[in-house]
Amino acid sequence: MSKFFSSKLKELEAYVPGEQPQDKKYVKLNTNESPFPPSPYAERLARQAAGGLNLYCDPECRVLTSVAAERFGVKKENIIFTNGSDEVLNFAFLAFCDEKTPAVFPDVTYGFYPVFAKVNGVPYREIPLTSSMEICVEDYFNAKGTVFIANPNAPTGIALPLSAIESILKNNPQNVVVVDEAYVDFGGESALALLGKYDNLLVTRTFSKSCSLAGGRLGIGFASEAIIADLNKIKYSTNPYNVNSMTAAAGVGALLDAEYFNANVKTICENRAYLTEALTGLGFEVLPSSANFIFAKKQGVSGEKLYLSLKEKGVLVRYFNKERLKSFVRITVGTKEQIDALLAATKSVLEG
Ligand code: PMP
Repeated sequence: MSKFFSSKLKELEAYVPGEQPQDKKYVKLNTNESPFPPSPYAERLARQAAGGLNLYCDPECRVLTSVAAERFGVKKENIIFTNGSDEVLNFAFLAFCDEKTPAVFPDVTYGFYPVFAKVNGVPYREIPLTSSMEICVEDYFNAKGTVFIANPNAPTGIALPLSAIESILKNNPQNVVVVDEAYVDFGGESALALLGKYDNLLVTRTFSKSCSLAGGRLGIGFASEAIIADLNKIKYSTNPYNVNSMTAAAGVGALLDAEYFNANVKTICENRAYLTEALTGLGFEVLPSSANFIFAKKQGVSGEKLYLSLKEKGVLVRYFNKERLKSFVRITVGTKEQIDALLAATKSVLEG
């Protein structure tokens, strides 16, 4: 740390993203990316957009917004696009949390939430998951803060039904409830259906998983016109050109190529069932996942040992060195070939 670093941020511990190794080729199942390339149409539009990189991109993402409004059945005024959904989440911490309005989220959830709170200097309250790693909905009633719920949750993969999300919204009329739907396409029920009904709802989505655009960095927020206006105020006060032209074009292609999207999501869901069954057969406990990853543990093998041994064998999974998560590994659902490689490596670790 330099002597110039703000004293306000001295205690800040930055978020640690999953490894993106360059040293050798791994079977990469650690950061919940799609194993499939972007839609060919998305790639073609991005290439075309590259020719216009001398000009600033459209800060309003007008084409992308129109296509998204049509696809999701909402008004253009209900949408904001951001540089990954991390950015819209960060905007939400900045816009809707303060000393009197802490952020409120589960103790086991997306690890970036506490970091967003700290970097923005806002207090937060963590509510423990149940012993079966589930969210107890009533714990979030009258939360006296801005609620952040990842649905499906990460890294558990467990989803809440829409009725549960609705009851949280209903019981927090004075506070924003952010529903982070990064993984919803793989089996969750979206809260988008509630958009017209609750003025306190903000739904965030990402193009990183089901749309195969993690490297493009594209996220989306859906909310009432007033909430979107607040988020735009933050955007235009930090980085109006947050979505570059190539990414915006790729996003249009991804949204319009529904056939490609549906086929990939279907394959991932099938592969998740295959992976879950195979790991269960090897004696693992696998939490019921509605996401493109599974969270699994096996008695007698620590998450760290499994992670390190698999890495040695060229398979990357994610391990979290946190009290309640230590015995688990999180495994991204990849192609059938990737899963078979993981299973072979796992068997050899268990036998060794
Ligand atoms: N929410 C959750 C629950 C996530 O796991 C992630 C991915 N790490 C994100 C949001 C952010 O994804 P991105 O910024 O790539 O859109």
